[in-house]
Amino acid sequence: MTAVVAPALSGGVSGAAALGPMVRTVLEALAEGAARRGGPIPAGTPQELFARVARALTEPGGDRAFGRPGDELAHAFAGPGGDDDALRRLTTLVAAGSADPADPACAAHLHCPPLAVAVAADLAVSALNPSQDSWDQAPATTALETLVLGELAELVGYPSTAAGVLTSGGTESNLMGLMLARDRVLGRASGCRIERSGLPAGAPRARIFASAAAHFSVRRAAALLGLGEDAVVTIPVDRDLRMNQDELAAALRECVRRGELPMAVVATAGTTDTGAIDPLNACADLAAEHGAWMHVDAAYGGGALLSDRLAPLLAGLERADSVSLDWHKLGWQPVAAGVFLVRRAETYASLARRAAYLNPADDEDAGYSSLLGLSLRTTRRPDAFKIAVTLATLGRDGLGRLVDTCHDLAHAGAAAVRTHPRLELHADPVLTAFLFRYLPADPALADRVNAGLRRRLLREGRAVVGRTELPGEGPGRVRLKLTLLNPHVTATEVERLVHLVAAAGEAEEETL
Ligand SMILES: *Cc1c(COP(=O)(O)O)cnc(C)c1O
Repeated sequence: MTAVVAPALSGGVSGAAALGPMVRTVLEALAEGAARRGGPIPAGTPQELFARVARALTEPGGDRAFGRPGDELAHAFAGPGGDDDALRRLTTLVAAGSADPADPACAAHLHCPPLAVAVAADLAVSALNPSQDSWDQAPATTALETLVLGELAELVGYPSTAAGVLTSGGTESNLMGLMLARDRVLGRASGCRIERSGLPAGAPRARIFASAAAHFSVRRAAALLGLGEDAVVTIPVDRDLRMNQDELAAALRECVRRGELPMAVVATAGTTDTGAIDPLNACADLAAEHGAWMHVDAAYGGGALLSDRLAPLLAGLERADSVSLDWHKLGWQPVAAGVFLVRRAETYASLARRAAYLNPADDEDAGYSSLLGLSLRTTRRPDAFKIAVTLATLGRDGLGRLVDTCHDLAHAGAAAVRTHPRLELHADPVLTAFLFRYLPADPALADRVNAGLRRRLLREGRAVVGRTELPGEGPGRVRLKLTLLNPHVTATEVERLVHLVAAAGEAEEETL
């Protein structure tokens, strides 16, 4: 075998030539691995899979279950290297051992099958490796990120005062929204700069209002920000998991009555489980009335902005002080493609940073601008690039058609559930996801059977279906979830998946 020039670099004029054969190897191995898997997820137990991966990494020829028989792996990490086939073998292993969201039966999470064009664009930035924390590491992509964010702000309905940054996802974006809220609202109320000196003694107790179906990252952000998870006041939801606005109004009044500070209202535009959209205008009115920051977590639902049919559901989004969007959900980007936006750039003040080695004032005065002060991170990939290429290639309309197709597929799946005698639909889809469950003959076994049938499908490598619980207490809350994010799937395939779930329910019930 000819030696792979392992230390070759990806950049420069000769980088592409070095990369070419390796990329071909990766592409062949991806196809080989997917064929070997032959389904949405590898069959077998987690222990079996772990053992196969461990064998492939530590024993010569130990990857037989996934790799080609006879392949050798000579101590990948501890040894002298020289394993020229590692790229092919381990890519095949990972492809064969992946949950592939491009498979019609892989529909559990907001885990999208990325567009090939976006992945190809991501390869370009991997090869060039710009870092968005200073102009001299990323001249073109600094400009590009700023321009892409301008487009996205317009999509949200923000005025030209908006600003933002690419993030690792909704978790980071929610943290940023609540951090800016803390520094602005709580900082003003306590007369100090919290980001510098911490929470002063005697500061009013700050409260964050989010629904029972809000993402868990809201509570975690409250903890990270020094406010404590219990700073989050949980507002009840209706059957569709939409925040009850009367309950929000009452909770805000109660907060003020106790002498506490309503710091932020977090509305969810597209809850993770059901795609429910909180009443955004009512939330904005109430936040404004109480001087609270309004953050909208549109990590999932932001994708509706691409669709003429669904965009009206997000009316009021433009009133938010800050917004989270995730293009690695309804945007078909490889992870990560999170977006954080604020309506007024000046509210970003507390994140501003001057680092002598990255963005000295005289450089900035001379026009060498930097995005450092917009992010919680320092080194950062130019994730706006793949979004820019995708938008230029498909346009908002092209992406909107993908959103509409997935919305249609969710309705087709929900209809198949509704007409099946052993399945129960929780509620009609709002976006592209819906909850349902299998109804065993003995209703007391419902949670056990639904949880078990999902693991059965995973073990058999036949389907990846979501499993969650409705908010509340007590038994009977386990639900299955389908999240339709693959626009190349047909309604017939979704119906087949629903029937597969029902059959697994029957098989599971028989074992009890
Ligand atoms: C997915 C999701 C998040 C978390 O986003 P990550 O990109 O996984 O960090 C937050 N909020 C909602 C509503 C989500 O659906």
